Amino acid sequence: MQEDESDITGATPRRRPKPDVLEIGGRKLKPATLMMGHGYDAALSEGALKPPIFLTSTFVFENAAAGKRHFEGVTGKRPGGSEGLVYSRFNGPNQEILEDRLSVWEDAEEALTFSSGMSAIATLLLTFVQPGDVIVHSGPLYAATETLIGRILGKFGVRWLDFPAGATREEIESVLAEAKGMGRVPLIYLESPANPTNVLVDVEAVAAARDSLFGDERPPIAIDNTFLGPLWSKPLEHGADLSIYSLTKYAGGHSDLVAGGVVGAKALITPIRMMRNTIGTITDPNTAWMLLRSLETLELRMTRAGENAAKVCEFLRQHPKVESVGYLGFLKDSRQADIYRRHCTGAGSTFSLYLTGGETEAFAFLDALKIAKLAVSLGGTETLASAPAAMTHLSVPDARKQALGITDNLVRISIGVEDPDDLIADFDQALGAV
Ligand SMILES: *Cc1c(COP(=O)(O)O)cnc(C)c1O
Repeated sequence: MQEDESDITGATPRRRPKPDVLEIGGRKLKPATLMMGHGYDAALSEGALKPPIFLTSTFVFENAAAGKRHFEGVTGKRPGGSEGLVYSRFNGPNQEILEDRLSVWEDAEEALTFSSGMSAIATLLLTFVQPGDVIVHSGPLYAATETLIGRILGKFGVRWLDFPAGATREEIESVLAEAKGMGRVPLIYLESPANPTNVLVDVEAVAAARDSLFGDERPPIAIDNTFLGPLWSKPLEHGADLSIYSLTKYAGGHSDLVAGGVVGAKALITPIRMMRNTIGTITDPNTAWMLLRSLETLELRMTRAGENAAKVCEFLRQHPKVESVGYLGFLKDSRQADIYRRHCTGAGSTFSLYLTGGETEAFAFLDALKIAKLAVSLGGTETLASAPAAMTHLSVPDARKQALGITDNLVRISIGVEDPDDLIADFDQALGAV
């Protein structure tokens, strides 16, 4: 197998014999409908209603000429991409179907899936950055992303500048201008809402600032859309070029897998695909199959979780033992509320609960919970609760913790799809035990 040739290229999805039904009578079908069949032709799999799991490391060519043709497609010698599958580090049927379906939610041209959210982010960064570059990002970011940009890419001479998640267009533009003066800006990297502050990034303002500063060499805007995507926030509509997911969270939705995704325009996805082909960060067929199952209920799950969170937060905000609730449904700041109106269609189901007291009270509350599980992560069918100051953000220096509102009385909660009144009863008794 001439692996080294395809190592440096992007195999694009194979052609499928039977095109999907994407609209009826001019009515474009909604993602919730397309999740049941899009990208899969049962005739290619013995009529199986559901796609089988393709456990194979490589794919047989019909004949030598076809093999050559596939490699011409894979290496870009022939436009239009590869007509067939080649090798499972590049792609496979389960992953291709998953990628077709994932791109539907943001109406993106293409999608790629990865072995984890972090491997998606790492592959994306490796694609675009080179020594001397200055990445501009919103802050704070998911801790591992900050480590990757600051400490790991830093070893290779990549630098960064950040602006606070809630920054105005003027503030963003001045940070971008400063970065431009320091070196090449390969990428603008955002995360919204920021964790655990819940501050939203104004993606439209970032795009406007970028467009006014950079002429023809506009750095792409990538955004981690894990917390609100793909249901409540579609950043490609607001000027982002690439939307990134930890599919481990809401998309997977059952806390039983780890995976990542990137969606966007083909021109940007192709180089990321080449990098993924080279380093092998693609998701595996089993996980891809599980994600196909998960996407069928994505809208149901996220809708229910969002409704549950609204009820639970309403209860929590008026409880005497609660200092405040950091939930996107309760935005006080008018600028944040404006971003929310422009960018979001729902407040999500992950929020910050500040108890009156400190670590003792937070721990007593967590230990008393009977339905909610004490675990980090979010976006699953079950409700989870954790204490960031003592867990996910334990190693963050005190001054920075203070600046980010990561106080000892903070409890992070991700609401699941249980009965909302049962959840309220659980939070009520746990607060009573504090
Ligand atoms: C969990 C998470 C990640 C990392 O995803 P993994 O699937 O754990 O690698 C990245 N960004 C955000 C916002 C996350 O919540």
